[in-house]
Amino acid sequence: MIKIKHEGCILCVGCSSVCPTNAIEVVGTRMQHFPERCINCGLCVKICPANVITMCKDAEKKADIQK
Ligand code: SF4
Ligand code: SF4
Repeated sequence: MIKIKHEGCILCVGCSSVCPTNAIEVVGTRMQHFPERCINCGLCVKICPANVITMCKDAEKKADIQK
């Protein structure tokens, strides 16, 4: 799973447009992550120009167990 640090986000919506499963959407004035749709591909982390998205290792493991 990923984590978005909202304070540094410039709302470029790059993460939303690159996400293959629509797991990030604009909700109000911030980017909202929907973990149930996330496949941990890491594309949003790579594309974010503000570097405010990080992979969350523990949640990643949990997601693997649930598969
Ligand atoms: S890691 Fe992949 S699937 Fe998950 S939110 Fe980012 S782009 Fe979408
Ligand atoms: S790519 Fe980064 S800066 Fe752009 S909207 Fe997503 S989280 Fe915010």
